[in-house]
Amino acid sequence: MVAVLENAAGSAGLMTSPVEYELVRSRRRSLEVRVFPDGRVQVRAPLRLAGRHIEAFVDERRDWIARQRRDMAHRPRQHWRHGEPCPHLGTPRTLDVRALSTGPARGRVNLEDDRLCIAVPRPDDESQVREALYEWWRAQARAFFQDSIERQFPWFAERGHRRPTLRVKKMRTRWGSLSPRGYINLNLLLMKYPPAAIDYVVMHELCHLEHMHHGPEFHALMDRRMPDWRRRKTLLEG
Ligand SMILES: [Zn+2]
Repeated sequence: MVAVLENAAGSAGLMTSPVEYELVRSRRRSLEVRVFPDGRVQVRAPLRLAGRHIEAFVDERRDWIARQRRDMAHRPRQHWRHGEPCPHLGTPRTLDVRALSTGPARGRVNLEDDRLCIAVPRPDDESQVREALYEWWRAQARAFFQDSIERQFPWFAERGHRRPTLRVKKMRTRWGSLSPRGYINLNLLLMKYPPAAIDYVVMHELCHLEHMHHGPEFHALMDRRMPDWRRRKTLLEG
């Protein structure tokens, strides 16, 4: 997962930053810095924001960036090979990769005891193993996420909100988002995590129906709707 830090406004300052980063300008209103698993740093900035604001923004976050890079370097990467661990809905499983000789060319996945059995035409091709599992997750994610929405939505319905339409996406930088046009986007990779963590992400996005920000009112609502959300959030870390 990519680490992202957002800030509503660029701050002033004239220090030059020693952090090397890729600058991506777009039609956006805030500055954002992303640290990728390979240590690359990318800064996303509004089209016309002056360079010195961007430099200051990066410089102020120098420690955070360094910490993310350190953490990423120590974080075990998922390998898509036989015998590798891979969690499924929060439970540790082991990949059991086999060669698929007949049947559909795209791969077959099933759960046997503590093994995620994945049969693909070329078992040495990690991307083929990964895609087969993602496809299998995708088939289950919709029902799983929808169930979480159904369970948690009634309070919001009473408040007069329309139920958002679920979209399952594979996202690199976020677990979920709520669009003002009525969509709740949830990350396919949540399928690795326990249901308690999935419910947390869904509740977080539903609370954005009331507050489209992360201010004190938003957190007060989270505290009311899901008193143990902080504990659940930690399930998504590490
Ligand atoms: Zn949010």
